[in-house]
Amino acid sequence: MAAPEIDALTQALARLPGLGPRSARRAVLHLLKRRETALVPLIAALTTVEARLATCSNCGNVDTRDPCAVCTDPRRDQTSLCVVEEVADLWALDRARLFPGRYHVLGGRLSALDGVRPEDLSIDALVGRVAGGGIDEVVLAMNVTLEGQTTMHFIADRLSSLPVRVTQLAHGMPVGGELDYLDEGTLAQALRARRPVQ
Ligand code: ZN
Repeated sequence: MAAPEIDALTQALARLPGLGPRSARRAVLHLLKRRETALVPLIAALTTVEARLATCSNCGNVDTRDPCAVCTDPRRDQTSLCVVEEVADLWALDRARLFPGRYHVLGGRLSALDGVRPEDLSIDALVGRVAGGGIDEVVLAMNVTLEGQTTMHFIADRLSSLPVRVTQLAHGMPVGGELDYLDEGTLAQALRARRPVQ
C-alpha cells in the first residue's frame, strides 16, 4: 500500500492521455527509485513550463513566449498559412518540418453535437490575418472527419471573397484520420499533393 501522497501522484499521472493506472504506477515507481535523475529534473521542467506557458496571440500555438517561436522565425515563408484544428496538429506538421510557412490554430472544429459554433473558434482572427494582406496561400489542414471537413468548407467560404489561394490536403489522408496520429510519410504526401478546396 502506498502513502496517500504517492497515491495522489499516481492518480494525477493516470489522468494523462496515453497513461492508464498501470502505466502511472510504473512511472511513479521509476520516479521514486530515481529521485535525483528522474524526479528532480521532472519537477524542474514542470515548474519552468508552468511559469512561462503562453498562448501565441497571433497563431494560437502554445509556447513559452508570445508571439511564439514559429511566428517570429524569419526563415519561414510569410506568404503561406496552414490552418489546423489543434496545437497537436501544428506540432505534428512542424515536427516533420513539412510546412515552410506559418500556422493558424482554430482551437477545435465545428460540431453541432458538441455545440461548437464558428464564434467558439478563432475563425474571425484567421479571416483578419488573411485580410491584413501578404498571404498568398491558405492550406486548410483539417482532419478527414465529418466535423473537420464541415469546418474546412465553412472557412473556405469565409475566405472566398479574399484574394488568396485556398487549398486542402490531398486524400492520402485516411478517412477518419487525425493529423497527430499520421506517420510523417503520409503527412508529407498529403501536404505535397494539396489541391484547391472545392
Ligand atoms: Zn505563433
